[in-house]
Amino acid sequence: MTHEDSQLWDVYVNEDCIGCSACVAICWEVFDLDDEGKAFSKKWIKQSESVDDAISACPVNAIHYKD
Ligand code: SF4
Repeated sequence: MTHEDSQLWDVYVNEDCIGCSACVAICWEVFDLDDEGKAFSKKWIKQSESVDDAISACPVNAIHYKD
């Protein structure tokens, strides 16, 4: 396994989230909705296609990787 393979990313949802739940539908392993109906990420992740799909699907561009 290379260093790159094992790198974990933190992904976060900012305050622009409108709670459409698209990211949860696409990538439920990582995203969930809180009590106010806003999305949050549950864990550190390996960068993956489904997370990238959720980022692409977000209508308000609220999901980002932390540097
Ligand atoms: S797709 Fe975007 S707007 Fe919809 S719940 Fe997820 S973060 Fe919020």
